[in-house]
Amino acid sequence: MSDQEHRSRVQRVFHKSMRVVLEPLISAETEGIDMVGSNGDVRKVFPILCSYIADYPEQCLVTCTKYGTCPKCQAKAKDLQEPTPGERRTPSWTKSIILEAKRKMSESNNNVKVFHNHCMDHEVSGSVYEPFWAKFPLCNIHQAIMFYTNYIKVSSSTSSAGSRLS
Ligand SMILES: [Zn+2]
Repeated sequence: MSDQEHRSRVQRVFHKSMRVVLEPLISAETEGIDMVGSNGDVRKVFPILCSYIADYPEQCLVTCTKYGTCPKCQAKAKDLQEPTPGERRTPSWTKSIILEAKRKMSESNNNVKVFHNHCMDHEVSGSVYEPFWAKFPLCNIHQAIMFYTNYIKVSSSTSSAGSRLS
């Protein structure tokens, strides 16, 4: 196995693992969950994956961004010194690049190099077929990503809706 293939597999294992760990949050985000507040009242809350704190390499891994480019905008590496940012990256944009790369890969007899090259041409990591955040309807991973601290890795915020349940 080449170093490139090894790195790609590590990235895919990360995304598959995160998908398993965070899967319960998807239904919580869409259907809500009951939580007891500090005063004892039970309220329906909708936790949203809204911040993910990581250093730069992990930001690229999490957002499926080509290493050396910006996890938040579509600026090419050569344009990163420009005073204005590029067009924002969005989850739907990133997923569309990956989807098109998968289509091209399947047309080329499942040549993973075709997938890799299409993604890299668009400043997207050429390793991940399905980002863990792809099924979170309200998560914008490119906005959620933040600089690293030593204390928190993943957090979510909650918003309460509706009336008290008890
Ligand atoms: Zn940027």
